[in-house]
Amino acid sequence: MRVDVVIVGAGPAGCFVGKILAEHGLKVAIVEEHAEVGRPVCCTGIVGLEGLRELGIKPGKWALGKLRGAAIYPPSNNPIRLTRRKVEALVIDRASFDRSLANAATEAGATLLLKTRCVGLSLGSEPSVKIRGGEKNELRARVVIGADGPLSLVARRANLLIRSKYIKCAQVETKADVADDIAEVYLGRSFAPGFFGWMVKAGEVCRVGLGTATGNPKQLLEYFLFQHPVVSRRIEGGVFSQCVGLIPECLSRRIQDGAVLLVGDAAGQIKPLTGGGLYIGLSCAKMAAEAVVGAVESGKLEKLEDYQRAVMDRFGAEFTVGSRLKKFFDQMSDEDLDFLSQLLEREDIRKLVLENFDFDHHEKLFSVFLVKAPEILKSLGIRRALKYVKLLAKP
Ligand SMILES: Cc1cc2nc3c(=O)[nH]c(=O)nc-3n(C[C@H](O)[C@H](O)[C@H](O)COP(=O)(O)OP(=O)(O)OC[C@H]3O[C@@H](n4cnc5c(N)ncnc54)[C@H](O)[C@@H]3O)c2cc1C
Repeated sequence: MRVDVVIVGAGPAGCFVGKILAEHGLKVAIVEEHAEVGRPVCCTGIVGLEGLRELGIKPGKWALGKLRGAAIYPPSNNPIRLTRRKVEALVIDRASFDRSLANAATEAGATLLLKTRCVGLSLGSEPSVKIRGGEKNELRARVVIGADGPLSLVARRANLLIRSKYIKCAQVETKADVADDIAEVYLGRSFAPGFFGWMVKAGEVCRVGLGTATGNPKQLLEYFLFQHPVVSRRIEGGVFSQCVGLIPECLSRRIQDGAVLLVGDAAGQIKPLTGGGLYIGLSCAKMAAEAVVGAVESGKLEKLEDYQRAVMDRFGAEFTVGSRLKKFFDQMSDEDLDFLSQLLEREDIRKLVLENFDFDHHEKLFSVFLVKAPEILKSLGIRRALKYVKLLAKP
């Protein structure tokens, strides 16, 4: 079978890029190893409302809840509430969201091949994707897009993976006493070293999970659910689903080489501080589609290089500053995290955060913090300030 574009992976990024390409009249095949789009699922499902609007995705039946803010529990467990009146984000049913994007892709003319696994890639004048499970063994294309998630085979076979580092996550759906419109975030090295824990209402259930840079996420989640002094008292019981998943490190892959492009988690397109990949992955999928359309219509494959440039123009600052800040937080002790959290109780800092926080674009807040950095460092005292300056300066 010969097509214009083969997309490996029918997650949100793959389906979205497939939809846009098919709408431009390109012949598109999307291969998905599972029998059903959207399952198995491992996601908390928080996605910024403004970001969805920007992408032209209208909330559907997959929207389960609305979030107006967050409560951050530092290791000392004195919560800091950061809320605004407007709805910031939706909590979604990921399986149903993915299916709606897949339907949009097939309605636009893309072919979706389920139970079809990509097992290899041949890169030559005409790239081809080796597949198993369906009637065919091979798909030939002008362009191959790897939308195959954090462990992307396409990234590895195309030598686009620079290093592999992941946050390991575990999550359950259970019943818990949590407000409908507030996402709760828990910081602490004992249960979520290098990341955080969360509790978020999703319709009738509550998603409780954590990410960790080291150790076994399932064991850490057991502790979080049953021994954490705040969380354990709020759990009402019952486990309706459980999953483990990976969040890739941002900036650990190149995203294009020759006729191969990566999108979504396969490209490490996530917000470094929160690990959220839906909005950024979908935005980059749109940019990938624009570059592919330009390259195919003009017959100039080198136009695919526009993709990398477009992504860095749009999200480069978010990726680099966010990754630097993440490393900075990773090295903080619980005592330091408490100290930093106390800053959020200061009226001027709170105001700064609430005025400049944008759910999908953290770089605005980063730049405001940089302006305020001398004052914040002064309030930390000379020893702490020196330590943090060194941490921030570390590459
Ligand atoms: C616990 C957890 C919670 C999260 N919560 C949030 C959140 O609240 N908000 C947010 O924005 N992000 C969140 N994320 C991140 C988000 O889930 C990802 O960024 C998003 O799923 C990326 O979409 P994708 O299409 O790039 O990849 P995926 O959703 O991983 O889809 C990849 C697809 O490729 C298929 N595939 C893989 N290999 C092959 C192959 N060889 N052949 C054929 N098919 C293949 C897979 O079956 C899958 O369907 C979370 C992640 C985790 C782990």
